[in-house]
Amino acid sequence: MFSRRIDQLSSSLVRDILAATKRPGMVSFAGGLPAEEALYRPDRLDSGLLAGAWQYGETEGEPALRAEIARLGRQLGIACAPEQVLIVNGSQQGIDLVSKLMIDEGTPVLTEAPAYLAALQSFRLFGARFCPASVGPDGADLVGFERTLADVRMAYLTPTFQNPSGYCYSDTERDTVAAALDRHDVLLFEDDPYRALSYDGEAPKPITGRLKTARWVYQGSFSKTLAPGLRLGFLIVHPDLITPLTRLKQAADLHSNRVSQTIIADLLARGELERHVASVLPLYRERRDAMAAALQRHLGGHARWQLPAGGLFFWLRLNKPCDTMALMRCGLDAGIAIMPGEPFFPDGADAGYLRLNFSHAGVEQIEAGMAKLAQLLDAARD
Ligand code: PMP
Repeated sequence: MFSRRIDQLSSSLVRDILAATKRPGMVSFAGGLPAEEALYRPDRLDSGLLAGAWQYGETEGEPALRAEIARLGRQLGIACAPEQVLIVNGSQQGIDLVSKLMIDEGTPVLTEAPAYLAALQSFRLFGARFCPASVGPDGADLVGFERTLADVRMAYLTPTFQNPSGYCYSDTERDTVAAALDRHDVLLFEDDPYRALSYDGEAPKPITGRLKTARWVYQGSFSKTLAPGLRLGFLIVHPDLITPLTRLKQAADLHSNRVSQTIIADLLARGELERHVASVLPLYRERRDAMAAALQRHLGGHARWQLPAGGLFFWLRLNKPCDTMALMRCGLDAGIAIMPGEPFFPDGADAGYLRLNFSHAGVEQIEAGMAKLAQLLDAARD
């Protein structure tokens, strides 16, 4: 009755966890949810500003927003014009459109291992054959990366505060990756939603701007900096890609939400985005440090981790791998939602990891939650 494609979408894990986190009393370390206090919530909407936003609009996006984003791209070292910007309804749509553009049944795609699980899901839906290169607390495996590049059409990377590992590539690693992509003429899909959430100084500039000849897609999002409910992200792309991506976008939904676009274009023009981000960073830094201290207190005997310099996650490597899916279910029974590491690996399960979000729960909940997690791990060890 349905297409063959839908069989690829078997996992309902994320949906199940997110549903469980809505239960009363549940403390969530599972999703990538921004803090409620950090969400951008205008007191009222400016009807004058929004007067023109209710009619159908352009597929590529609002001209004022495209111009602001091209300016943002240039600040990040990406030579680009507004005509190279495509506004999308959340960067998850960017992943869907790039998947449709680049992936046929069996197309080899390089991803980090681990990598953002909903990107893996989208690539899988279109038939990708995964060629993983490892990334994480021990650094990116650049030798493996170069070897794998010889065989692939596209490389999907999240070099800045990766979801899930929190890893941030150094300047040298970025230069090495860019040179290798140029040598092999492989398209780079750089996903960069966490860049602004940097707690210890500015992150190195994107890999995209370091490319000389390879084609590229650079993706950003307003979900983590303003509010996921605005559902707005953007692609800045190599000139060869804007026309086919615009056609795909048109087939998907005609254009992105013009109300959100108008609000965000106005915020950007007034420098409000930077001000809002600057106002939420202390809260996130405090929660990150609270989780680091709680982990140290309760989980030192169970796992190893590194302090993430940005983003929203700690990535725990368990000293003794266990059934982390079962651990997650025990966690839900005990009132905490945690994320098993397995679904982040493109080439099958690795039972040795957990991802913990530190932005959503408060400092006291973090302390109590990590104590509970230690008890669960104690029980799993017995
Ligand atoms: N890419 C990465 C790496 C993410 O972590 C997320 C959100 N968790 C997204 C894309 C999708 O974000 P959105 O659709 O909200 O922009």
